[in-house]
Amino acid sequence: MSFDEMPDGRLFLAGEWQAGTGDEITSVFPADGSVNRVLRGASRADGIEAIARAGAAQADPAWRGLKPHERARYLYAIADGIEANIDRISRIQSRDTGKTLRETAALAASAAGTFRYFGAVAETMDEDLTAQRGTALTLSVHEPLGVVAAITPWNSPIASDAQKVAPALAAGNAVILKPASWSPLTALELARIVEAAGLPKGLFSVLPGSGREIGNLLVEHPGIAKVSFTGGTTTGRALARKAADKLMPVSLELGGKSPTIVFGDADMDQALAGILFGIFSSSGQSCIAGSRLFVQRGIYDEFVARLVAATKRLKVGHPFDAATQVAPLIHMDHRAEVADHVARAIAEGAQLLCGGAAPDGDLYAKGSYYLPTILAGVKNTDRICRDEVFGPVLVVMPFEDEEEVIALSNDNDYGLACGIWTRDFPKAWRVGRAVNAGTIWHNTYKQFSISTPFGGEADSGVGREKGRQGLRAYMAQKSVYTDLTGQMHPWAAATVEGL
Ligand code: NAP
Repeated sequence: MSFDEMPDGRLFLAGEWQAGTGDEITSVFPADGSVNRVLRGASRADGIEAIARAGAAQADPAWRGLKPHERARYLYAIADGIEANIDRISRIQSRDTGKTLRETAALAASAAGTFRYFGAVAETMDEDLTAQRGTALTLSVHEPLGVVAAITPWNSPIASDAQKVAPALAAGNAVILKPASWSPLTALELARIVEAAGLPKGLFSVLPGSGREIGNLLVEHPGIAKVSFTGGTTTGRALARKAADKLMPVSLELGGKSPTIVFGDADMDQALAGILFGIFSSSGQSCIAGSRLFVQRGIYDEFVARLVAATKRLKVGHPFDAATQVAPLIHMDHRAEVADHVARAIAEGAQLLCGGAAPDGDLYAKGSYYLPTILAGVKNTDRICRDEVFGPVLVVMPFEDEEEVIALSNDNDYGLACGIWTRDFPKAWRVGRAVNAGTIWHNTYKQFSISTPFGGEADSGVGREKGRQGLRAYMAQKSVYTDLTGQMHPWAAATVEGL
């Protein structure tokens, strides 16, 4: 992709392209450290302007008064725009994040599906006529919240952006999207597509900028009715405290340390492939990465030996190489953090089975690559088994039986996902129901469907995205009572009569 094709770095502020007045942000290509763009992020003043204009656009009858099927047309147009630009978005996102083109094309396609899905949900979701108990007709209806802030991380920009922007717009809100500072360009490309779809000005802004400055503003400002956040647990917890002061609803999609469990009766090859994909695809930079592996004692040695052999075969390479399975990490700073986790685990007694370093060779010299890494000889209570590494690092532990593995899985602060590998369906069912996690995968991993809710428990977050109810997360419920009698209320009838 030529440099000129990349978003030029201006912000999309309430439908106008303008230079930011906040801190400088640099988007770097993680494969070689070259600079994609240097841009000025949004300042507080930019944010305040965007919030005011979003509030006015949201309240305008031209938007507020649209019927759901009329709003849905904009979502379908955005979906069409994304679909027509998948290659372009994919190239921008791969440069912005270092992810493989194969993965970013799939993320763009899923983002198009998300807009289409929520357009369809908006125009087919019924309001409720509730069971009548008195003399009034009773209804439960839903209204937009107002201006919604979407704050997203760097690991899957277009998909996590769409997951928030699509239902929020479909519900009739205005949206201000703040992407992560390490990947500001993909969201700006989404803004170009939203603009081309003809969404009225003001309803959508993309404001890259520091979490400290623009992120905080979006959380604290009284003009923001809801924050939908995806990111780390520490950031999410701090944000939720501030939201509590405002009594503002938040949805929080946070981190994970998800267990994957291989029982002795599992199809070993199927489990191996699924576990490799679950932890090492996206270079482990995935909230749902299956980063804690429990293997039943009877097959432990054989399974782990084959897992290590397979891991060493994974193709670590350039994001633009179609054969690449493990691409660079997002940033050199992030690679240093991942390496620190591994070094500390080894210092505390973990046994390094493979990886644990950057790959050798010219191809890798300037990029933030890190080899797929497996650590054994650890206890479930060790820091490496509790902290989210957010990189290609897997810990492996043996277990004896169902009861023990449920206890080990649940002995963790997170509760995002769990993979269970067994041919015994009733056992998978029992274990899946007992493990604390928002998503259970049986004989598969990291599969997603926009029609199926997603979210976490405990330190993995609050609320659910996706699914038909995902639309309601961006709406306020309202009850309506309409009199059916045409009579005066008996309490005051005599008082009023004859006046
Ligand atoms: P992060 O550091 O928490 O940042 C997430 C977003 O929050 C970024 O846009 C960041 O802006 C912003 N932010 C930072 N400080 C803020 C503040 N004080 N107020 C408001 N916003 C603030 O997370 P990350 O490193 O980008 O992403 C990795 C994390 O996301 C991992 O923990 C991962 O598990 C989680 N994640 C969860 C899911 C899920 O669905 N459960 C999906 C993907 C990722 P800056 O970039 O400017 O700091």
